[in-house]
Amino acid sequence: MENIKNKRFRQIKKSHSWVAIVLFFLIFFITAGFIVSYLNMFLLYIMDSKIASEYNSALYMAKSYDLAVSEENNEIIAFLVGSGRSYVIKDSDGNVKYQYGDITMGTEEGTVSANTPGVPDNIRVILDKDSGALSMYNGTFSVNLFEVLKDLHKYSKSEAFDNYIDDDDEEDDEDDDPDFSLSPKVHARLDISTENADMLYFPFWIAQDVTGGTMYIKSFVTISIKDAMLFFTFIAVGAVMMLAIFGMMLGNIISGIVRRNRTLIVFFTDVVTRGHNWMWFVIKGQQFLNKRKNYSTRYAIVDLVFVHYMNFCVCHSVEEGERKLRKVYNVIKTSLDKKELCAHCNPAEFALVLKAPDDETLKQRVQSLIDELGRIDSEHTFAFQAGIMIVEPDGTPDKNGTPIRRKKLDIESAYNNACTARAELDGSDDSGITFFDDKLVEDQKWIDLVREHQQSALANEEFMVYYQPKYDPRTDELRGAEALIRWQSPEFGFVPPGKIIPIYEKNGFITEIDHYMITHVARDQKAWLDMGRKCVPVSVNVSRAHFIENDLAEQIRDMVDKEGAPHDLIEIELTESAFFDDKKAMISTISRLKEYGFAVSMDDFGSGYSSLNSLKDMPLDVLKLDAEFFRGNNDNGRGEIVVSEAIKLAKNLNMRTVAEGVEVRDQVDFLASQGCDMIQGYYYAKPMPKEEYETRMKLVQSPVQLGPEPAAAPETAPSETEPAPSEN
Ligand code: C2E
Ligand code: CA
Ligand code: CA
Repeated sequence: MENIKNKRFRQIKKSHSWVAIVLFFLIFFITAGFIVSYLNMFLLYIMDSKIASEYNSALYMAKSYDLAVSEENNEIIAFLVGSGRSYVIKDSDGNVKYQYGDITMGTEEGTVSANTPGVPDNIRVILDKDSGALSMYNGTFSVNLFEVLKDLHKYSKSEAFDNYIDDDDEEDDEDDDPDFSLSPKVHARLDISTENADMLYFPFWIAQDVTGGTMYIKSFVTISIKDAMLFFTFIAVGAVMMLAIFGMMLGNIISGIVRRNRTLIVFFTDVVTRGHNWMWFVIKGQQFLNKRKNYSTRYAIVDLVFVHYMNFCVCHSVEEGERKLRKVYNVIKTSLDKKELCAHCNPAEFALVLKAPDDETLKQRVQSLIDELGRIDSEHTFAFQAGIMIVEPDGTPDKNGTPIRRKKLDIESAYNNACTARAELDGSDDSGITFFDDKLVEDQKWIDLVREHQQSALANEEFMVYYQPKYDPRTDELRGAEALIRWQSPEFGFVPPGKIIPIYEKNGFITEIDHYMITHVARDQKAWLDMGRKCVPVSVNVSRAHFIENDLAEQIRDMVDKEGAPHDLIEIELTESAFFDDKKAMISTISRLKEYGFAVSMDDFGSGYSSLNSLKDMPLDVLKLDAEFFRGNNDNGRGEIVVSEAIKLAKNLNMRTVAEGVEVRDQVDFLASQGCDMIQGYYYAKPMPKEEYETRMKLVQSPVQLGPEPAAAPETAPSETEPAPSEN
């Protein structure tokens, strides 16, 4: 499919109309040249054979003269004189001995080859001054076609021609004497013999050696006007037909070009912005970047997204939205420099090719464009996000030191990279700019791998449940635990949740993970109970995506029941962000979970979203204070005030509190003094495999030797010492 598309693009790219036109004219001129030279050759052939027949007369005259001279026969000389032909006899010194008629001999002398028996191969001929269509070329005859046509034309305009036409029926009538009032030259040729007025005459001289000198006899090539007219009419019809055919061809080519251009305009025009569209960007952009003269310029392919365009359309109207898009397009277009491109692609996306002298300059420029676009409407402020893919100049070494080859650049892949960079901003409502880099490629590859392996990992039970204990800060007793997932992959080793959970959340696989975790925790709890251990509630994270399902409470109940674990040993953790979805459905699910005997906690309280409102509405059991509360210094004591107030608030709402991410004893003491119920943090324990957690459960009966664990130390699982991909 992709190949076919590329092929088509290449076809469009390559179909240059000027090639067709140049080719057409080349063929036209070759054909016309061929016809003209063929005609010339044809006429020359006729001339040649006519000259040959004239030669025989000249030879006869010369022989007669020789005879007359040898026999001193004055009769023959008189006959020669009376033959009507002009001639001149010169002795070997060039002195004129005899002459008769109008001696119009020119100086150009040459030969003509005549393939007639008895005629020497090269007859010596001398052009007449009035030679007209005959000329000498490199010593041999050539025919000037245009002179012949000119003569014919002049003749056809003359009265003689009219007479000729009128008297067509009587053309053999010898008494008929047409009136030759022609141009002087044609007249000169035509009046030689009024008896054959329907002939064209081309005079020339034949030189023949005679006794004591050379005889020059005036000869004529005669062509019947009727034949010539017929011949040229035939040629003219042929030429007109040829012109007509070529005209039609040219017309076809031109209308094809016009049609193609019109189609291309439609093909390349975006219906919404009336500017360029995606097709145009792909084809023109590719040609543009592949142009050798652009090789030395550093460019950026930019994916510019109008954030929440769809929302705008829903709140206003699609027409209004499209008006905004047009405005956006025009603003972008006017901001472009020479040799920069822009097109409207998806509903809310624009593809740009910008010059990028360096990253900082480009970033500032895109930022000011985003700022300008954000203000295009006086009543709204819009957000725009840009993903940037840099196209380095040709020959720039890449990270492996291999020079980048611009002619191999595929603009679609480059744009796709810009989109991938832009997608990093997904989930944010604000404007922003991101650059594509190699880490993004690695991330994308990882996402693909995770997606490919998710089903088999689940089927092969490669996901492991780790438990992070929760302790009572006043008694240091184990009061609960949180189940946290780890992926023990045979291929990638130990993979922390940060590397997989966000991917599963995006692709929906998280719901299967939630089921897996609930089932395994319930199974473990049941097994520990059966072993006679003192079990504490274990909380399981349930994703926001899962909470949308109406029967989530029933699903959880059934899963836990299937494993035979008591409901009060399972707690469900919900992240704050989940409370923004359908509130009513959420309250209903929480209420039913509680009804079935499960505790429900709010995870990551205070981590960013306004959660006080949710607290008001949701009948929750546990409040988990986010680890962020315990990060950074607490020099002015403000952090402690917030934590202490949050604990008070929870108490007033009849909620238990869990402080997450507690790493130092001071924090434990403070939390204990404030009445925090549980602490889940590295101070007590890191998440651990179930076997290790099991030992903690046993130890809970007698005083535990608890102490601070080094915060930077790895989790206690043997598997975690194996190399794992670094976390985001
Ligand atoms: P969370 O639910 O907030 O889990 C607590 C995270 O804080 C855990 O990270 C835990 O190891 C870490 N933590 C606990 N005490 C400390 C401390 O004292 N210092 C520091 N630096 N970190 C501490 P973990 O296990 O890497 O999990 C990360 C996140 O992945 C979890 O955050 C949770 O959102 C998600 N997650 C993990 N397992 C699951 C699961 O089975 N299902 C779902 N939906 N999400 C899970
Ligand atoms: Ca959690
Ligand atoms: Ca948490």
